[in-house]
Amino acid sequence: MKENQKMSEEIRVRFAPSPTGKVHIGNIRAAIYNWLYARHTGGKFLLRVEDTDLERSTPEAIQALMECMDWLGLDYDEEAFYQTKNKSRHMEAVEKLIASGHAYKCERTSRDGKTGEVVMFKMPKEGVIEFDDIVKGKMAKKAEDIQDFAIVRSDGSPIFHIANVVDDIDQRVTHIIRGDDHVENTFKHICIFKALGASVPKYGHLSMIVNQQGKPYSKRDGAAFVGEFRDSGFLPEALFNYLLLLGWNPGDDREVLTKKEMIELFDLEKVHVTAAKFDMKKLQWMNGEYIKRMDEKVFTEELLKRVQSEGMSVPEDYDIKYLVGQLQIRTKFLSDLPELCRPFFSDDYSFDEKAVEKRLKKPGVKELLLDLVERFSKAPVWNAADLENLVKELSQGNGMGPWVHPIRVAVSGRGEGIGLFEMLQLLGREKTLERLESAANTIAL
Ligand code: GLU
Repeated sequence: MKENQKMSEEIRVRFAPSPTGKVHIGNIRAAIYNWLYARHTGGKFLLRVEDTDLERSTPEAIQALMECMDWLGLDYDEEAFYQTKNKSRHMEAVEKLIASGHAYKCERTSRDGKTGEVVMFKMPKEGVIEFDDIVKGKMAKKAEDIQDFAIVRSDGSPIFHIANVVDDIDQRVTHIIRGDDHVENTFKHICIFKALGASVPKYGHLSMIVNQQGKPYSKRDGAAFVGEFRDSGFLPEALFNYLLLLGWNPGDDREVLTKKEMIELFDLEKVHVTAAKFDMKKLQWMNGEYIKRMDEKVFTEELLKRVQSEGMSVPEDYDIKYLVGQLQIRTKFLSDLPELCRPFFSDDYSFDEKAVEKRLKKPGVKELLLDLVERFSKAPVWNAADLENLVKELSQGNGMGPWVHPIRVAVSGRGEGIGLFEMLQLLGREKTLERLESAANTIAL
């Protein structure tokens, strides 16, 4: 009895994507919310692959979906459920609806002029369809405002509405958490659940992710698919955390949360009603936060792997720990590492045009660099602190900018990077002098 009671109270949520190629961040955010809700309540997170669009739900599309879920750590309970495999149950339900007078067959002419027999669901003609949405609150619509709708096509295949509801019944889903583009469907689905004598699950409709103009965020606004974020160097933990915050927060100003904290704090009732604006800058910041928090050893391995795969080699006695200490706190993308590291491991680094114009192509810079070559060659020891003192003295308290910027561009080709004096320490005296001299003689004015 106790066991039975527990079974009937168990929360069962599902992610029910229609895999059609790429996985949109809006969909995956719904998966994240479902997953967290299940983990928070000790319930089950189920995966249902709505693969009835046979042309678009290819094995590759399903594979891409699985890879995205795996990458984000969205592990599901029980076996994946494939909608196409449940067709006989969909049709059983249709027969039941016809027998009970909730559905009927009729001739229909499709858009391309072909006539065939379809099955229509008969909407109640009076009354109000209501539900208490966990996110949006009370929702209601007059039944008479919804027309009868098709549930079986003339080729005999079940349509989304019936397949989706029957699968939810068969998977014993208790809470349907999905995008609010489904609100209109929900009114219809509630009628189907009732007509089949099934209990109606609870609903939570998530508002859309929108662009800066408030329109649904799409690929026209930039990266919109999970795979693109993965390929451009985002960490799965950062994307997960960022998507979670698009529509929910823990109630205080914490933004970077561990999985454990997320699971502990997540609550469907606190999901925001208003649409969330996608903010790439914030996501990039979040990625940097996760890179900062990476285990130093793991970061070092990533750095070495990426640097080496770009053909650069790291000398055996290199002070990699010092470089890592400087870089890890500043790196926004692991994929930036090869370029950030190139000046350290190769003489073949490129010069940023703008930085060169601004910092080197100015009268007097040539003399300034040659003067530094002179002074640096006499520095008793080669370390960041002493080099900094040397330049500080030169600047006589008027700010080190006029020295720091040209040096940086001369030795690294770029206008930004790790602390300049730390950079010089890492490069060593010989390389620094060589580069300053070469920039003075070939680039600077
Ligand atoms: N496959 C549909 C979708 O991806 C169903 C959504 C649902 O019921 O959760 O929009």
